[in-house]
Amino acid sequence: MNEKNESKLELPYKPKIAYFSMEIAIDKNIPSYSGGLGILAGDFIKTCADQEIPIIAITLLYRKGFFVQDFDQNGFQIDRPEEFNPSSQLTRIDNRFNFSMLDHKIYLRSWVKFVEGITGFKIPVIFLDTHIKENNEWDQKLSDYLYGGDKRYRIGQEMTLGVGGVSFLKHFDLLEHISKFHMNEGHASLLTLALFHKFKNVDQVKERCVFTTHTPVPAGIDVFDVSLVDEFAHDLIPKELRNDIVEDELLNMTYLGFYFSEYINGVAKRHRKISKDMFPGFNIDFITNGIHLLSWASPSFKSLFDKYILGWKKDNYSLRSSVQIPLNEIWDAHQQEKKKLVNTVNNLTDQLIDEEKFTIGFARRHTSYKRPELLFWNIDELKRINKKYPLQIIYAGKAHPQDDEGKEIIKRILQLSSDLKGEISVVFLKNYSIELAKKLVAGVDLWLNTPKKNLEASGTSGMKAALNGIPQLSVLDGWWLEGHLEHLTGWSIGSQDRSEESNDERDADELYNKLEYVILPLYLKKRDDWIEVMRNSIALNASFFNTQRMLAQYVLNAYFL
Ligand SMILES: *Cc1c(COP(=O)(O)O)cnc(C)c1O
Repeated sequence: MNEKNESKLELPYKPKIAYFSMEIAIDKNIPSYSGGLGILAGDFIKTCADQEIPIIAITLLYRKGFFVQDFDQNGFQIDRPEEFNPSSQLTRIDNRFNFSMLDHKIYLRSWVKFVEGITGFKIPVIFLDTHIKENNEWDQKLSDYLYGGDKRYRIGQEMTLGVGGVSFLKHFDLLEHISKFHMNEGHASLLTLALFHKFKNVDQVKERCVFTTHTPVPAGIDVFDVSLVDEFAHDLIPKELRNDIVEDELLNMTYLGFYFSEYINGVAKRHRKISKDMFPGFNIDFITNGIHLLSWASPSFKSLFDKYILGWKKDNYSLRSSVQIPLNEIWDAHQQEKKKLVNTVNNLTDQLIDEEKFTIGFARRHTSYKRPELLFWNIDELKRINKKYPLQIIYAGKAHPQDDEGKEIIKRILQLSSDLKGEISVVFLKNYSIELAKKLVAGVDLWLNTPKKNLEASGTSGMKAALNGIPQLSVLDGWWLEGHLEHLTGWSIGSQDRSEESNDERDADELYNKLEYVILPLYLKKRDDWIEVMRNSIALNASFFNTQRMLAQYVLNAYFL
């Protein structure tokens, strides 16, 4: 332990908003995220710093991170702990505070990292830590893994985040100043019950709560047996509300968050509709996700924007005027990023890829509804197209520790990669991370996303690609329903009709057809037209799908600052 790190919590302002998230990605060296949800939370907080919003973010500390991805000799994913020494990145705050769980007191301390915005404004991100000697062994382990363990482990962590997070605010005399408690997904919903015990009145809690749902599938929602909740804290669920918030002896964390929130939103237009169907009776708005442009613009495109678009960092909307950037400069910037990616890949794997070849990127969590294998639906067809127009494919992504099906998918892709060696280069990069994502979303030529329809809440990786002038070929779902303009910003797979279910065979056919007859010929034979699609991706999509626009909507519609 580095005792020098220990200090008092000194905040530059009294926060008005408290933002709770189970994961938050603010730095590549802090393993506090697994994927899209955490990246969004981090980009949001960075933007709050840029815009000087008086907010405080609260999350948990994970001493063993999410996991490090490795493979056994059969290509089956092995999850290894990611050892994290918090004192290397965070400042420890000495104060202890506590809350009650399992009929005893759990003690917490916190660590802080300040996120600094473009004007120097700093936002505290608090990491709650149970790994202290006052706690028993099991309690201490709650600060080990993000999304590890069983239901008991999960509810222990969610109590720590929600109830422990409120104790943190109380301990530092911040609670009274908070006008909005923002739950980024249902992991934080127990905070509503902690607030109810303070205010003893649903309306008073409600006027302070904001809930953002990110999940369009029931399986993605945390649901606990009420007996388990009672075991952890027998008086947490108020008797008078039990009938309202418990159904079939289950506590649904999204329902709980909705019940106590005056403002609820989904993360894209379509996602709002799906959420309304899942939870009838609630008033649900939408705020489509965005990305923090300064974090995701590659060095080459940053310089290009600096050269042509005055003040784009402070005013993301002005990226509209990237339509005036000369095509050859867009192309050169992209080629520079592609070169870097090709070097990275060739250093990481034994499959060589080629800077001259058309490169398709697919990187995200690997799970069956995202259909990472759709591109290989008909291998002969893919081989035939590759003979006509040579291509190569880069994959990256982890499967969740409990998702064996996702692990099987990766195993099959690794197998294909070795089967196709010498014919089509298919590389799979281990340990998809912010760092790797930055290279991929700037260095490939086409961003591919093939989820089953209505299951992608928003998606943000495509926005990162668009910012770096990379067009997409994607299923019309999530944000792409809003960002897609055929042949202007990219290409679609499948219809936008919500009632029509995705059909693998039809979608694969369309994928191959668009590649063979539209995308590859455009790329190879009409280069200027191709670069116009690249440029439009920036002008039409990066200027809108950013966290500056997104934050403005939260401030106006949810926070009323
Ligand atoms: C952006 C990002 C994601 C989210 O990707 P989607 O395609 O939107 O699911 C996941 N992981 C990392 C490392 C990212 O940078």
